[in-house]
Parts: sequence; C-alpha cells; structure tokens
Amino acid sequence: MSISEKDMEILRHSTSHVMAQAVRRLFPEVKVAIGPAIENGFYYDFDKPEPFTQQDLGLIEEEMRKIVKEDLPIVGREVPREEALGLFNEAGETYKVELIRDMPDAEVVILYRQGEFVDLCRGPHVESTGKIKEFKLLNVAGAYWRGDEKNKMLQRIYGTAFPTKVELDHYLEMLAEAEKRDHRRLGKELDIFSLHEEGGAGLVYWHPKGGIIRKVIEDFWRDEHLKRGYDLVFSPHIAKRDLWEISGHWGWYRENMYSPIDIDGVEYLLKPMNCPFHIMMYKTKTRSYRDLPLRWAELGTVYRYERSGVLHGMLRVRGFTQDDAHLFMRPDQLEDELVGVIDLVKFMMESFSYKEYDFELSVRDPLNKEQYVGSDDVWELAETALVSAMNRAGIKFRRMEGEAKFYGPAIDVHIKDALGRGWQGPTIQVDFNLPERFDINYIGEDNAPHRPVMIHRTVLGSMERFVAGLIEHYNGAFPVWLAPVQARIIPIADRHFDYAKDVEKAFRDVDLRVETDARPEKVGYKIREAQVEKIPYMIIVGDKEIDEEKIAVRSRTEGDLGVMALPEFVARIVREIREKI
Ligand SMILES: [Zn+2]
Ligand SMILES: [Zn+2]
Repeated sequence: MSISEKDMEILRHSTSHVMAQAVRRLFPEVKVAIGPAIENGFYYDFDKPEPFTQQDLGLIEEEMRKIVKEDLPIVGREVPREEALGLFNEAGETYKVELIRDMPDAEVVILYRQGEFVDLCRGPHVESTGKIKEFKLLNVAGAYWRGDEKNKMLQRIYGTAFPTKVELDHYLEMLAEAEKRDHRRLGKELDIFSLHEEGGAGLVYWHPKGGIIRKVIEDFWRDEHLKRGYDLVFSPHIAKRDLWEISGHWGWYRENMYSPIDIDGVEYLLKPMNCPFHIMMYKTKTRSYRDLPLRWAELGTVYRYERSGVLHGMLRVRGFTQDDAHLFMRPDQLEDELVGVIDLVKFMMESFSYKEYDFELSVRDPLNKEQYVGSDDVWELAETALVSAMNRAGIKFRRMEGEAKFYGPAIDVHIKDALGRGWQGPTIQVDFNLPERFDINYIGEDNAPHRPVMIHRTVLGSMERFVAGLIEHYNGAFPVWLAPVQARIIPIADRHFDYAKDVEKAFRDVDLRVETDARPEKVGYKIREAQVEKIPYMIIVGDKEIDEEKIAVRSRTEGDLGVMALPEFVARIVREIREKI
C-alpha cells in the first residue's frame, strides 16, 4: 500500500541525508549545502570542484546501502546558535555556517545526527537509516548556491526513494519512457522545432512540420472561440513604459520584463502580458451594461525574462505565444462566464485526449486580508461564483488558502499526460486590480458608471509549452487531425509514379496533408521510414492497384488494412479527423 504524501516526503528527505552522509564518507573534502525532498524524489547540493561521475553515483549508492544496514538512529536536538556555528566552522561546512548566519534571531537551531554525520535541519525524518528501503540516484546537474547565478556552481545529485521495490521499478520505467518521449529529442527527430544559442537562448524556431501542427491547433482554437461568442483581437508587441506603470507591471512584474527600448527618446517595453492592450481597446468607447460580457481572445506573443539556468526546450522559454483572452462583465454575469470558460477548458483538454485533470481554487489568506486589493464584498462574490461554477460543472477541486495573487482568486488546472505526469494547464484568473487601475467602467441600468469584473484566462497556456506537452503525451505519434503529414503515398516502382500523383491530387482536393515518396528505394525501406516519422497512413500503389483503380492502405498502428477504393479510405480518414482520434 502506498504511504501518505507527507510520509513519502519524510522518507525522501531522510534519504537525501543518507546520501550526504555517504558523500562525506567517500569524499571528505566535499562541503554539503542543502538537500530537500522534491516532487518524485530529492536532491542534495555539494561543493565539489569536479562533477560527480556516473561511477561516483554507483559508489555513493553502495555506501548508502551500508548506512541503511547500519540502521543508525536519526536524532534531532536543539543546540544554541553559537555552538552550532562553532561546530560547522570547525568542520569547514561554510554553507551551513552561512545558513545559520542568516537566522540572526534564532537562539537555538536544530541539528540532526545519524552516526558521525550532523546536519542542520528542521526535520522531520524517519527514526533510523534502516527505515529507508528502496532508492536510486538518478543524475547530476550544476546548480548555483541559492539559485543565484552570481554564486558558486554546486553539484546537485538527484535521486528518488520509495517504500517498495515495485513502486521504485515502476517509477524508473516511467522515467525511461519519459526520456524516450522527451520533446527536445522527438522535436529534433520529427523536425518540429529548434533552438539556437547563436540566436539567443529560450527562443523557439518552428520548422514547417511544427508550423503545420501549430496552424491546425490555432485554426481549431479560433473557430471554437468564435463559436462560443468570443471576438478575436490583435495587439502590438511593445508599449510605452507609461502604460506598464499604469497597469502596475513596471512595479510588481519588472524582474520578468526586459530592458526598455529607446524610440525617439521614449522608453518602450516588450510586452510580458496582453492585458493592458485589451483594456485600451475597451476604453475606446462608452460601454453599456447591455454590451457586456465582452470576450476578447488573442494568440498574443509575449516576452518574459527567465534565468538561463531554468530554460528547458519549449517548456521554459523567453518568448512564447499565449492563447490569451480577457472577459469583461458585470458582477452578476461572473458565474455564467466562469461556467462558459470551464466548459471550454474541458472541451479543449478532451479534444487533445487529456483525460485527467485536477482543479485548484486559489483564494485569499483569511488572516491577511489587507494584502489583497479589492473589497471583501467583491472577493466573496468572486469566490462564490468560482465555487458554484465548478459545482455546476460537476468538478471536484482543492481549495488553496493564501495561494491567490494579490488581485483576485483563480482556478489553476493541472493536467495529466499519457504517462501520468502532471503538467501546468489552463488558468482562470479573476482580477479586481486592472479595472481599478485603468478606471474602466460601464454604464448601468441606473445610468451611473459601474466597475466591470475582468477575467484573464488561458486554456492551452502557450503554444510552445502546449505543443511540447503534446509531443510527449502522444510520443510524437500525433493523431491524424494534428499529424503534419497524414498519409504518404509510396509507389512500388517508377512506372507507378503517375498514378501515385493522381492519388495525391485526389487527397489534396479533400484537404488532406499528403506527400509522395518518389525516391528509388525499396518499398520496405520507405514504409519503415514513414513508420519512424510516425505518419498515420502509408498508401502503397503498384500494378494491381492501378488495374483495379484502388489503393493498398497501411496504418501506423494497425498495419496492413488491405486494398480499398479511394472514397472508402477518404471516408475513413475524414471521420478520424472530425472525431480527433
Ligand atoms: Zn533533514
Ligand atoms: Zn491578462
């Protein structure tokens, strides 16, 4: 049986201590930094001039097994601050000294001892090293002390631990599968995108195949929004600094924004968000209560500063296209609008065959209400609307107190992919701040001006992150509706080429994405290659097919489907595209 999340965290954190102890035994010159439990495992940072090798990891694991066997009690005790400082100073553990120095108000600190190894830690831990059962060290990566690039680069060892071997093995299998599906690797193999250091880190280049995938998603997204009463807008990529001062971004979001661009002596900033632009459009005329709600959607490209150390393929980038929308409404329309957004979220996730998702509701910290903008009334109204909208949609959610941003409550959706891994999904954010800062109004039935409520929402998140997720979710084998090439026509010999071209034209006429492989290669070779490229259908044409005016069809997943007439295949593939399977 699986243990609780808290116990798992304790187990993994304790395993990180055992790893640090093993490292100190094997490499006495190494200094230890910090070692928390993280999602799915733990890490510990070490100050070591040379990186650990794969062989080192094996030795450390071996030593860890010894420590587990020794079954050393893990005992915590409170120690006067000065005494702890002395102890770590003497041991040369400068990182621990720095950590204690950063707690000037603490009279005592907590030290945990297991055998000869003492660590600064609040705990809790398992009671002895023998309680640790199954673990595996996974990899080593550089990590700056305290995540700051100005500090020294340390060596971080990642590992994982589980209560049973079955669970550990299952996790390791999942990791191996995830590595095979890594979007950076598949993105290159399938010619979807690239990144270029010489062009700048964290900036994505969409190749023709990626371009088609993105076009299909964007067309689907736009059509669905129009169906649901949204309007499409476009806004500039830069705006004067003044605008970002009014919006408040220059105040609270500056560290995510790039340096100003000088245009005729005026400072402009690249947009990190689209919201102020949509608000400017709202303000171009007097809005009546009858005009609301307004639902304005934009595939808006934004730029946000991310530290180079956290950039990761298409997942963490510096420029990306958000599938953004801003909804302006009367307070009494909030709940219905939320129901609409939630329905769109579910529809979109299901269209991309994400079957599992968790909803989280972020609300105020009830004990610190003064740190939020907006009155009690509007917060309560919004929270009630969010809860009843989710109830109406039959959604179970987790309530996260104190997790709301200062300007309004929000729903965050976490999606699970085909491997059961969690991904950041849609977000729905209620905002009391921007309508106030930009002083936007609508004229109510009473002929007086009123403040509209605003929702920011993204459904896919960003095109970059979403497509990265899809590549891994589908293992690069995109369903027919998304596949860059839906069918490849393979003539058996040169004399079948003209017929292949006729077939290609017939498919193109019904908007299928097809190509003909006319290279003088063997059919088997061409089929294998199409299979590697994960093309859904291979259409083979030879003498027999020409005589009968038919085609031989091979499916990527089902193999040989036999000979059929063109209209029969077209009906099949068109149905699959429509049903998004
Ligand atoms: Zn600890
Ligand atoms: Zn926004």
